[in-house]
Amino acid sequence: MTSVFIDELDASTYAAYAARPGSTLIIPTGATEQHGPHMPLGVDAMLSKDIAAAVAQKLGALVAPGFSYGYKSQPRSGGGNHRTGTTSLGATALMALTEDVVSSFMTQGFENIVVLNGHFENYQFLYEGIDNATAKMRSAGSRARAVLLSYWDFVDDDTLARVFPEGFLGWDIEHGGVLETSLMLLLRPHLVDMSRVENHPPATLTAYDIFPEDPARTPDSGCLSSATGATADRGQLLLDAITGSIAHALRGELAEPSVLT
Ligand SMILES: [Zn+2]
Repeated sequence: MTSVFIDELDASTYAAYAARPGSTLIIPTGATEQHGPHMPLGVDAMLSKDIAAAVAQKLGALVAPGFSYGYKSQPRSGGGNHRTGTTSLGATALMALTEDVVSSFMTQGFENIVVLNGHFENYQFLYEGIDNATAKMRSAGSRARAVLLSYWDFVDDDTLARVFPEGFLGWDIEHGGVLETSLMLLLRPHLVDMSRVENHPPATLTAYDIFPEDPARTPDSGCLSSATGATADRGQLLLDAITGSIAHALRGELAEPSVLT
């Protein structure tokens, strides 16, 4: 196989892979979202694609074209949907997109679909779309299965302690922070400008949401914590932990795809 990316394969090579026992396709999902002054709008889509490719190489899986738009950015996890540069889908569109794409790949013969999420706010709507697609396919006689995951959930405590030596404050405020910036410095360094990182304290967030959003309640930088501690070495620690743990989990889940219902 010349590429793990299906959009770089011819249809007959693709069809032969999809028909294989245990065929596995990873769908990366991201967003078009501002990530502060130091990183581009496509961070979530780029990182989910690159992580999907690394996992696919470990598993012998393929990678589908990713979702470049995600669910609405929220002030308490992504800076807010009001920010210029953030272009989002509503829940109905993301659920329908997920259901249609997942069921289509299952119909074409894939036994395992993995949706690899790279944008915090997407998760529950991906869940709904996958659940509906799987139910529809089961009632049509398909035995295909699916897995949904967000990549940051695979960072173990030891890696967290090494990447955040001054203490880890939570994934929700990592938007544009050390995690994403370190991974980008490793994987897409030409798209990061560390001289533009703003050194500000982590955002102080309420325990609730208000409508309409109040731009004054999140940092002007658009980041919920500062990326000053980001390095490519930390990106490598994160990437190794994430891809190793995801591949390990998927090997366990997908080893015998026909025995689970
Ligand atoms: Zn992001």
